Amino acid sequence: MKKNIPEIVSKVKEATKTFTIPIVTEISWERNPFKVLISCLLSLRTRDSVTAKVCNRLFKIADTPEKLVKVPIKKLESLIYSVNFYKGKAERIHTICKIILEKYHGNVPDTMEELLTLKGVGRKTAGITLVYGFRQKEIAIPADIHVHRTANRIGLVQTKFAEQTEQALLKIVPKQYWWEWNDMFVKFGQNICLPRNPRCHQCHLTKYCKYYKKSGFGKAKGIGTFTKENKLKGQLEKDE
Ligand code: SF4
Repeated sequence: MKKNIPEIVSKVKEATKTFTIPIVTEISWERNPFKVLISCLLSLRTRDSVTAKVCNRLFKIADTPEKLVKVPIKKLESLIYSVNFYKGKAERIHTICKIILEKYHGNVPDTMEELLTLKGVGRKTAGITLVYGFRQKEIAIPADIHVHRTANRIGLVQTKFAEQTEQALLKIVPKQYWWEWNDMFVKFGQNICLPRNPRCHQCHLTKYCKYYKKSGFGKAKGIGTFTKENKLKGQLEKDE
């Protein structure tokens, strides 16, 4: 399977090139690690369309830790109200801004170790910040539920949780693909390899895909089915 990775990447890239870009990736084009970090925190357990609106509203008012820390918590809550767990996120964002100001002179820390010390920042958020915010392209393969699900379905890895998926992918994916892996497979997972009823008839990976082969053309259950429990345990607990 490892030897098929370049071909798999090429097919996924081609299949997803016209799909909407994940909001955090779009924000990362500004090369602003702070906005990448905050948008990633806001996006946890929240639809991209909602995150996009909230980021737009929030960053118009406060797009630096200095400005954000001056926004009263209640006001911050009302600004980000439509994302899930907005109260907890408002509090964490405030705390993170304070730490960035007091400990890091207003700059987002640029190492995995330091980012992971910030409450609410798990390996996925830290990875996204480093890869897409700082353009440290060979530092991580941020694994969210889409990256986790698709890699297991295709048969690239056999893991229960997203953190394990990242570690397994790091061993088999050539470094040149690390930085774009999350972006590609989030789009792929949001549009083709859906959590329920994957669109195998539209997919160009059927010849490699373990799920497709073992499930009788994608009809049977049991392989690559990700329960709500696994989603919560596998992806989100480290980042929430
Ligand atoms: S063939 Fe189906 S299950 Fe396999 S990667 Fe494609 S969409 Fe997902």
